[in-house]
Amino acid sequence: MASTVNGENHGVNLWESQKNMLTQPLRDNDIEVYTIIKKENHRQKTGLELIASENFASRAVLEALGSCLNNKYSEGYPGQRYYGGTEFVDELEILCQKRALQAYGLDPQNWGVNVQPYSGSPGNFAVYTALVEPHGRIMGLDLPDGGHLTHGFMTDKKKISATSIFFESMPYKVNPDTGYIDYDKLEENARLFHPKLIIAGVSCYSRNLDYARMRKIADSNGAYLMADMAHISGLVAAGVVPSPFEYCDVVTTTTHKTLRGCRSAMIFFRKGVRSVDPKTGKQTMYNLESLINSAVFPGLQGGPHNHAIAGVAVALKQALTPEFKAYQQQVVANCKALCAALMELGYHIVTGGSDNHLILLDLRSKGTDGGRAEKVLESCSIACNKNTCPGDKSALRPSGLRLGTPALTSRGLLEKDFHQVAQFIHEGIELALRIQRDVGPQATMKEFKEKLAGDAHYQGAVKALRDKVESFATTFPLPGIPGF
Ligand SMILES: *Cc1c(COP(=O)(O)O)cnc(C)c1O
Repeated sequence: MASTVNGENHGVNLWESQKNMLTQPLRDNDIEVYTIIKKENHRQKTGLELIASENFASRAVLEALGSCLNNKYSEGYPGQRYYGGTEFVDELEILCQKRALQAYGLDPQNWGVNVQPYSGSPGNFAVYTALVEPHGRIMGLDLPDGGHLTHGFMTDKKKISATSIFFESMPYKVNPDTGYIDYDKLEENARLFHPKLIIAGVSCYSRNLDYARMRKIADSNGAYLMADMAHISGLVAAGVVPSPFEYCDVVTTTTHKTLRGCRSAMIFFRKGVRSVDPKTGKQTMYNLESLINSAVFPGLQGGPHNHAIAGVAVALKQALTPEFKAYQQQVVANCKALCAALMELGYHIVTGGSDNHLILLDLRSKGTDGGRAEKVLESCSIACNKNTCPGDKSALRPSGLRLGTPALTSRGLLEKDFHQVAQFIHEGIELALRIQRDVGPQATMKEFKEKLAGDAHYQGAVKALRDKVESFATTFPLPGIPGF
């Protein structure tokens, strides 16, 4: 029934007046945002995406994300919601949980999963608030050594991450000579620091982690062991790198990196018996489920992002297929091919190789650094990250480049294509070196950039390389919703 105010029939007119706003396609309704998305789509299609944390989500994942599930509030968990109308989102969340356990071969008797964290960082924070008291102690791999901000990052001057402000953090490091994690030092420091939680997880480390060793270190200190497999969760699901589940109490992950879903996160936790006293036979049970679930909601979050949970469920179904396993095997094969090609061109790779989807290129022997190389490559439509290398004196001038293969492998590139990609990277770095010789070794980044952008000769060289890169990249298909 239409309501009337001041004699006007608002029920009818209101719909008519809003109809365009509510039903028009984006293209007609908001040309500015539409145009920005089109430009981004073009950038993704014409560029070479080597950012190791990125990927191209499938069309089905993006459709789930763009669905009416966005509209639904459902604070709580399946069967225990604070809102009505949740029968279908309950079904969805239970399906997502079931697929998550299946994807990692986990028995629901021994493992549970929370699929509500909004993203990796809030997911990790939720685990810390669940298992560690305020200002309790955590140990994670230091950020400059390949760890993540949320593993307790701080500098000499400042506590940067909230995980170092609200918890006491002591990092462990890689050996500056080998680039491998220094587990002996971790063991020694853990004995002094008595952490409540040790984090096994990396954002820039090309080698498998020794979960068994870390389990021993955690046990001898009565600490929990949490794996943060954000970067490698697709590789783990496909069985192409070792699984952390055998050794850990908790496993967190983002869902949008190698797993190739939408931006979201999951927290897996153990259930059942935690330990048995060897003398009395008395069992201690895990109580992680209620601690973690209540830390996520109502502790840190409100309504779950049901559209994201749907996107994750779709990605997890894909992760259970033989085609996904083949994709992940190719990610690793491509990474080895990229690594070999760059070594042939005379580059130094930290640790001398890779077990996974990324490599860290150390440019110190070349006479340039990650920031300058990244800048030139970006202007040539090659995307990657500058990154500190083991032993770098300053985080302000990182000497490495992090290169990953998941995104381009989703576009169908094979080993031979990565030989070509290595050649493009080499040409970009050679160009960075020419500019650097021109401006002199003391030149600032600002002077370097001005030379790059302001000198007609270098702009010509950039354009020549960019044209080659873009015509190569455009030959490969782009996953997602066609034309958008
Ligand atoms: C990417 C990443 C995260 C954080 O994920 P966001 O979704 O960006 O918050 C956490 N841990 C590790 C190891 C990561 O690589």
